[in-house]
Amino acid sequence: MNIEHATKQLEQMRQEAYAYTDKGKVASYIPELAKEDPCQIGVSVCLPDGTILSAGEADKPFTLQSISKIFSLIVALCQNGQSYVFERVGKEPTGDPFNSIIKLETIKPHRPLNPMINAGAIAVAGMIRGKDVEERLQSVLELLRKMTGNPQIGINEAVYCSEKKTADRNRALAWFLKDSGVLTGDVEETLDLYFRHCSIEVTAKEVARLGMVLAADGMDIMTKESVFPAEVARICKTFMVTCGMYNASGEFAIDVGIPAKSGVAGGILATVPNKMGIGVFGPALDEKGNSVAGVKLLELLSKEWKLGIF
Ligand code: GLN
Repeated sequence: MNIEHATKQLEQMRQEAYAYTDKGKVASYIPELAKEDPCQIGVSVCLPDGTILSAGEADKPFTLQSISKIFSLIVALCQNGQSYVFERVGKEPTGDPFNSIIKLETIKPHRPLNPMINAGAIAVAGMIRGKDVEERLQSVLELLRKMTGNPQIGINEAVYCSEKKTADRNRALAWFLKDSGVLTGDVEETLDLYFRHCSIEVTAKEVARLGMVLAADGMDIMTKESVFPAEVARICKTFMVTCGMYNASGEFAIDVGIPAKSGVAGGILATVPNKMGIGVFGPALDEKGNSVAGVKLLELLSKEWKLGIF
């Protein structure tokens, strides 16, 4: 790949996608996120040798939100193994919004359908071990620090407090899970861990690097060490295809065709197996909670560079 030419293309596509930033709205149910300027769009691409290409707001920090569900799942799988995890959370897409409660009651057994929706990720947070919430969070932070090579990765306190104060819906999901026997420990502590890992702050550049590690089956591209097993990476990438873009995952698979996970702060992590990781930041969201300009940009990029995996 000619880096100079590719960077120019990236900038052109970013400009084309910029026109879509006024077609969405920033998330407002977490009051702190409502302060973000919707007219931003940044993208970074990380290649197997660690080279990073960027355009737009690639160094602007934002919170992972639902993107963190991948990393809590990695920790839970590494600590507990597949059978323990998948006895408590399923592997099926829901077709419902990410914070929906309905199928927790209507589908038996009463467990969340997958770990990429809020109920599933809260169940996964309940599986992360440690003597207290600090130690449990630490295992997620350590994973992200290793994967990005940035030992400073931490949480955005303002976003964390803002979500914790307003998270009635997530609290309802968690207590329902407790009633169904999916959550067994201290519910408020598990919710606290969930809010904290959602508030971990990153940039699009770092997200691109996270995507590259997943693309390399869990291998740290700089040290060539395995950070987590290839089997765990395979599970994550499969969930990203089937459930990563919430109830727009089918459409995204057809239009873009790359495993991806979005978050309500406007981030999208995309991973092209063996080829590259992509990080996008565009806080204006569509009605399903995905970055409008971010999805557009990934669509352009996938077509231009023929990245679709199908
Ligand atoms: N922290 C957010 C929530 O629980 C994450 C949701 C998301 O990014 N879709 O509502």
